[in-house]
Amino acid sequence: MGDILAGFKRVNLCHQPTALEEMPRLTKALKGPRLWIKRDDCTGLATGGNKTRKLEFLMADALEIGADIVVTQGAVQSNHVRQTAAAACKLGIDCYALLERRVPKKSAEYEQTGNVLFDRMFNTKIEFRPAGLDMNAEAKAVTERLKSEGRNAYFIPGGGSNEIGALGYVSTAQELLEQCKAMQIHPKLVVLSTGSAGTHAGMIAGFHALKCDIPILGISVRQPEQVQIENVYNLAVKTAAQLTDKPLPREKVIVDDGYVGEGYGIPTQTMVEATNMLARNEGILLDPVYSGKGMAGLIGQIQSGQISEDGDVIFLHTGGAVSLFAYEDQFSS
Ligand SMILES: *Cc1c(COP(=O)(O)O)cnc(C)c1O
Repeated sequence: MGDILAGFKRVNLCHQPTALEEMPRLTKALKGPRLWIKRDDCTGLATGGNKTRKLEFLMADALEIGADIVVTQGAVQSNHVRQTAAAACKLGIDCYALLERRVPKKSAEYEQTGNVLFDRMFNTKIEFRPAGLDMNAEAKAVTERLKSEGRNAYFIPGGGSNEIGALGYVSTAQELLEQCKAMQIHPKLVVLSTGSAGTHAGMIAGFHALKCDIPILGISVRQPEQVQIENVYNLAVKTAAQLTDKPLPREKVIVDDGYVGEGYGIPTQTMVEATNMLARNEGILLDPVYSGKGMAGLIGQIQSGQISEDGDVIFLHTGGAVSLFAYEDQFSS
C-alpha cells in the first residue's frame, strides 16, 4: 500500500505508529467481542492525544506562510489547546488561546489544573470567554487584530478540525489498516468519540480513499445525532476530495448520541463506570470529556446487543487523561 499522504506538507510531531493492543481482560469482562485499542493517547507530545496528528499538517501550513504565532480556541480543559501550545514551543513560535467557559458549575481548580496548568507552562497567551459565543469567530478576530499589529498570525479552528487537520486522521486510518494486515486482524467495527468532527471525518475519508469498508461508529460528546452526522459528513467530503474523486456516501457516517448526558464536559454515570472499568481491567486511563464517554458507548452497545459478541472491534483512544485532575471529585471516592 503506497502512502496516500506522500504529497502533503507535514511536520513531524508524533510518535508513530502508535500501538494497536489487545484488551483481553476487558473482552472477558464484557463476554466479547474481541476488543483492541489503538493508542493515539500515546502520540508523545506533552502527554499526547489526537490533536497532535492534526497539528502535523496544520503546523506545516502555518510554517509555510511564515507564521510567528498561532491562534486557536477550545473549552477551558481543551486538550487541543494544550497540544497546540506544545507544538508551537517545539517549533519556536507563539500560541494565543481563547478558552470558553463552556462547562457550567466548575470549581476554581478546574481553571488552574490539568490542561490549563500545561498551557501556562508552554507560555500560552490565554484569554477566557463566556459560554455560547461563536468561538471560531472570536479566534479569527484575534488573528486579524494580531495581523494589524504586525504579527504573522495563523488561525487554527477549534479541535484543529478543518480539511487540513483531518488529514492527521487519514494518517491514523492508513496506519491502522497496515497494522491490521500485519497482525491478521479483520475488525468488524472501529469506535471513537466525536466532538469537533475532525477525527471521525479523517478516519472515514482515509478508509474511503483506501477502499476499506469497515464501519466507524462515532460516540457523540456534544451534539445531537443529526447535527453531528452533518458536521462529520461535510468535513469528510472536503477531506476525501483531496485524496480521491470517488463520491463519499452519507451512510458512512454513523453516530450514537446516547452517551452525551446533560452536555459537553458534564460527567455521566456511564462515563465514570467505563473509565474505572478500563483503568481496573487494563491499566489504561481515559478522560472524562471524550474517551470516557466513547468507551461508555462501546460498553453500552455491547451490553445492549447492538454490537454482537463475535469478531474484533477496535476502540480508538484519543487521549485526554490530563483533564482527570480537573474532575478529581468524580473519581476520588
Ligand atoms: C478533541 C478530542 C476528541 C474529539 O476529536 P474531534 O476531532 O474533536 O472530534 C476526542 N478525544 C479527546 C481526548 C480529544 O481531546
